[in-house]
Amino acid sequence: MHRETKSATDEEPPAGHRLQLLKQFHSAGRGFWHNVPAADWNDWHWQLKHRITTLEQLQRLMPTLTPEEQAATQLANHKLALAITPYFFNLIDPANERCPIRRQVIPRIEETHTAPWEMTDPCGEDSHSPVPGLVHRYPDRVLFLVTDRCASYCRYCTRSRLVSNATGYDFHPDFERQIDYIRRTPAVRDVLLSGGDPLLFSDEKLDYLLGRLRAIPHVEFLRLGTRIPIFLPQRITSALCATLKKHHPLFISIHSNHPRELTMETRDALGRLADAGIPLGNQSVLLRHVNDDATVMKAHVQKLLLCRVKPHYIYQCDLIAGSAHLRASVRQGIEIMESLRGHTTGYAVPTYVIDAPGGGGKVPVSPEYVLSRNADRVIIRNYEGKIFEYPEAQDGTPLFAPPKEIEEPELV
Ligand code: SF4
Repeated sequence: MHRETKSATDEEPPAGHRLQLLKQFHSAGRGFWHNVPAADWNDWHWQLKHRITTLEQLQRLMPTLTPEEQAATQLANHKLALAITPYFFNLIDPANERCPIRRQVIPRIEETHTAPWEMTDPCGEDSHSPVPGLVHRYPDRVLFLVTDRCASYCRYCTRSRLVSNATGYDFHPDFERQIDYIRRTPAVRDVLLSGGDPLLFSDEKLDYLLGRLRAIPHVEFLRLGTRIPIFLPQRITSALCATLKKHHPLFISIHSNHPRELTMETRDALGRLADAGIPLGNQSVLLRHVNDDATVMKAHVQKLLLCRVKPHYIYQCDLIAGSAHLRASVRQGIEIMESLRGHTTGYAVPTYVIDAPGGGGKVPVSPEYVLSRNADRVIIRNYEGKIFEYPEAQDGTPLFAPPKEIEEPELV
């Protein structure tokens, strides 16, 4: 089992060496469950049944739990439930309080502090729901929430109001109403199934749902949003891949934040999905002391390509209640993008976005590469800081007239 055992006093390895170390693939191993037969360990139902969900279990497995973690774990089931699969638990470094895996799934007392600008529904999903469990915010696509359950729970989850039902949101998807809305709305050509995690459904249930959506003539494109390949790679069975393959074009967006999440088990699971012809993209959330580091992020995006996954988005962490301790700054996000663009394969460079608070949708945020622009020329800089002039084509009137004066935007 791989452990990052660096203590605060250890010397940092040089950046190039650190990058290579982060990109190495390791198995999560059986760790604390070394006596469990392989057949059980590799069974996704066994993994779900043996999740760590209580303070007692956590204390037994991890005596190094800090007072902040202990106190928060006691309260967790009133906010966002605690659940960690044994497989994923093995990736935690119990000796390191700042372990990037630990910070994502073990509650901390800071979760109970809510800043005035934080929200329970930061993306305004509930106000864009024509029927419960269906979010129609962009013109041609919908978000179809199919469940409130996940294999493990991320402490910064944008939908923590809903997932795990710890706050009593009482989410009950009504597939008939949701599908009926899609059928009655010809503008919808793209459906994203998410939740919660749709890959927790049985193969039969997924087949039924995807089949119902495929039967709608104007639905061109199906997507699944899932963190299962990261939390529970055992779920990616050959039978599941055969089921999904029936419903092409089908894309999958996974959610991985740190190179250590990309284990040998996860790489194999992603390979099975890719072999089923499913294009794979990744969405990361920029998180403080998890991946707000240029070397970590570069290793992560390069390792994703090794797993046949295109890094798609880096999200600025939403203003979810109790997440301030996990939010990195936008400045760091822009610096990370600057460190990737031009410095690594274009396919490895994701788009950094802020989901505009209150329901404004994704807004791309990037370092400035266009230094100035008028009807005659565009002044640009490259990744090395060198400046170039590009003569504008004849119809190059600027798209937007510059504002006469800058108005202070009204905060949503
Ligand atoms: S897997 Fe996704 S939906 Fe589930 S807790 Fe994590 S971020 Fe939220």
